[in-house]
Amino acid sequence: MLGHQGPAPETEEAVVGKLARIIGAGVVITGLVGLALERAGLRSCGCYPECWCKRPGLNLFRWITPPTLHRGPWRESEASGEADL
Ligand SMILES: [Zn+2]
Repeated sequence: MLGHQGPAPETEEAVVGKLARIIGAGVVITGLVGLALERAGLRSCGCYPECWCKRPGLNLFRWITPPTLHRGPWRESEASGEADL
């Protein structure tokens, strides 16, 4: 009988793995688009020069991570009075 056609039923692990790959690709694409916009002068990072995202290789993650993880003027006003380790 050839009643069972089409893709084999996916296991939960396979679905999770596929989802992780899709999310991973989305994150990388978001980072690349952000960098491309930055290079084109359409977007600029307001971080301080000492922010980790200014380092080569890490700038891909600049537009993926939330601003709270960066060092910039917004951080100063937010963490005023608090000891920043
Ligand atoms: Zn930064």
